[in-house]
Amino acid sequence: MEIAAMNTPGNRQSPGPETATQAQRLPTVKQIVAVGAGKGGVGKSTVAVNLATSLAGLGAKVGLLDGDIYGPSIPTLLGLKNDTPEIDEERRKIIPLKAHGISCVSMGFLLKDTDAVVWRGPMLGKALQQFVDDVDWGNLDYLIVDLPPGTGDVQLSLAQLLSVHGAILVTTPQDLSHDDVARALRMFELLNIPILGLVENMSYFLCPDNNKTYHIFGAGRTQEFADKLNLELLEALPIDMGVAPAGDKGIPITVVEPKGDQGSRYRKLAQGV
Ligand code: ADP
Repeated sequence: MEIAAMNTPGNRQSPGPETATQAQRLPTVKQIVAVGAGKGGVGKSTVAVNLATSLAGLGAKVGLLDGDIYGPSIPTLLGLKNDTPEIDEERRKIIPLKAHGISCVSMGFLLKDTDAVVWRGPMLGKALQQFVDDVDWGNLDYLIVDLPPGTGDVQLSLAQLLSVHGAILVTTPQDLSHDDVARALRMFELLNIPILGLVENMSYFLCPDNNKTYHIFGAGRTQEFADKLNLELLEALPIDMGVAPAGDKGIPITVVEPKGDQGSRYRKLAQGV
């Protein structure tokens, strides 16, 4: 499966990564913010989506590039699972899909649920390049890039294609997740991508039955970890029983309850970014 199947010019008319600068590539995008994680399942895509909708809620023009090529979950999280982007045949550009005030492009729009993604480096680089060069992103204040977890080819390709202004790393409060975050941090350092800070997700659970706080993955661990590495802990997001159902329905929690606990925390995060 190739994006070229979408009838876009692909690499034919696009300058290669080695020739085009960021300004030539995305001249209408002001800031690029990557959201990464050391490992999968920590809530990276959830944070990317809710950060994007919260920035839009503050009045910014926001795009979301789903760089999680192997496991794209953004289409589900935005309720766009059954949609396919249109192509502007004249300009030969992919028009991003719009949901909840943000524009989005994802590999998930081009794959069926059951399609396996078994791609090699060059194909991968080409797909990502199309997401950058052949998409009509329009004027954006922020392009949020949801990276795949860990360290690998996609991160390297994107760093080559785009000058990312800052990265946010999502972690749970466990040593297991922190170890992987430390590895991801090293990679961003090597790629000269500034780290904006950490977001601790699933920090604790406030039980609605007895109003007690349970630190399921440990307490205070991410703050210690951040202090040790001289990083800012941007926000701590508790486990919230509304997050998963909202994601499954394709309406981010920040849209369902913009004034709720998660909505307020994401707004603070967005203001910080
Ligand atoms: P990743 O992108 O890191 O693989 P996801 O964003 O797909 O992780 O989230 C993994 C699962 O955890 C999803 O089911 C999501 O709804 C859930 N989740 C994420 N953050 C929270 C939270 N703060 N509270 C409750 N569930 C959450």
